[in-house]
Amino acid sequence: MILILFGPPGAGKGTQAQILVERYNLKQLSTGDMLREAIKKGSDLGKEAKSIMDKGELVSDQIILSMIREKLENAEREGFIFDGFPRNLEQAKSLDEILNKLKLELDLVIEIIVEDDVLIRRIENRVRESKDARSDDNAEVLKNRLNVYHQSTEMIKPYYLEKNKLVQIDGMGSIEEVSNDIESHLSVKVKQ
Ligand code: AMP
Repeated sequence: MILILFGPPGAGKGTQAQILVERYNLKQLSTGDMLREAIKKGSDLGKEAKSIMDKGELVSDQIILSMIREKLENAEREGFIFDGFPRNLEQAKSLDEILNKLKLELDLVIEIIVEDDVLIRRIENRVRESKDARSDDNAEVLKNRLNVYHQSTEMIKPYYLEKNKLVQIDGMGSIEEVSNDIESHLSVKVKQ
């Protein structure tokens, strides 16, 4: 099974991805995690990405797509969950090409919908409560990340709607409620 978890920053994509990884034995491919790993290693790619991430802007498609290509080509498992990717139409189209070449097919794009003011409150709590808050977790950068989400990332929705691949989930409930809602869509998919 190949899934995309889609939604604004702070919507709970990472948490839901982890639940799905365990339930369906999928490999999670989070481009944000890959970039943070590159920053930790101090690689050239990490250095280039850090200043962009700290502003809440999108890292270049070239960097993102080469990371994804490398991970997919070297992965043994055939089930994947993309988290934080694709983030614009160019990435979405390129993902289709990459999957095509590998004879893989995307099953479903799961959009987790949360209102902006709730997201801002969630991230503010994350900053207050967490020792390991990320360097891009602050109110100003978050507002920019939300702008980028509404201006670029949301533009991929019609692309997947047209392909009949998009399902929308209310992300305002508890972790369990959201997870059950996702599950109800996937059990239909698995039975097909
Ligand atoms: P995330 O952990 O998914 O919230 O990503 C953190 C930051 O990494 C984003 O604000 C972007 O700067 C960068 N990033 C992650 N994934 C992508 C992507 N698919 N395309 C471009 N930039 C990305």
